[in-house]
Amino acid sequence: MPHLDPDQLSLLALYDDWEDPAGREHLLACPQCAADYAALRRTVEAVKTTPDTSRLSVPGPQVWAGIHQELGLGESVREDPLAAEPRKEGGATPAATAPPGDAAPSNLVSVPARIKGARTGSARTNGGRAKAGWWQRPGAWLATAAAAVLVVAGAVWTLNRPPQPRELAEAQLTPLAQHSAAGSAKVVSAADGSRSLEVSLDKDEAKGYQEVWLIAPDLSKLVSLGVMNSTSGTFQVPAGLDLSQYPVVDVSDEPMDGNPAHSTVSIARGTLTS
Ligand SMILES: [Zn+2]
Repeated sequence: MPHLDPDQLSLLALYDDWEDPAGREHLLACPQCAADYAALRRTVEAVKTTPDTSRLSVPGPQVWAGIHQELGLGESVREDPLAAEPRKEGGATPAATAPPGDAAPSNLVSVPARIKGARTGSARTNGGRAKAGWWQRPGAWLATAAAAVLVVAGAVWTLNRPPQPRELAEAQLTPLAQHSAAGSAKVVSAADGSRSLEVSLDKDEAKGYQEVWLIAPDLSKLVSLGVMNSTSGTFQVPAGLDLSQYPVVDVSDEPMDGNPAHSTVSIARGTLTS
């Protein structure tokens, strides 16, 4: 006898009571067809078995909202599919694993018609549960898996997206003696890891020019970041500079005297906190 054709194998694997005595006899005698049949059976069991939802918790509406937003889905599917049909007791009944009630055909019918009939029978088997939860409907798990793939793809995209600038620390700048300028400063980390200090004052009170400094808490050490000609400026922080050692942001009034040292006249000052 020739090997079983794929249709025969599929029907035998799909329906335990499929009447094909010659085919079943062949399965007992032919290891090759038996192996194909076993592989198909595993697939059928995997698809037919409704996952044990009794141990799954129903996610809150924010989960669907997140999926909806991440995938940019349309208004028609904005509503949480789980919220529409609250979970029922006994929802985990593995009805789908039960053989279809009308699974003993007396004659051969086309495969699509046969499967359609099986689905109808299965629905009857479910009894009064016409409004089965989405997790019990055929295809729901496939759709869920597809959605999960998209979510994972979105997560990968998010991880591969260039990191956005983020704020590392900030300081309120308050005026020192004889001055009234106030403002703020913040340290921002760029995508490449470089840091910059953004300084903003509400006015420029320098008689000479403003210079921006990072200074040690005891004022014993200081680093000049540069000149600020207007009321705001952005300054590169030297790579490797430990900001915890130089947390004080200082804007000084520097005379045009060619002396690179701090004039000791500070306009505004504040300490960075992260
Ligand atoms: Zn065979």
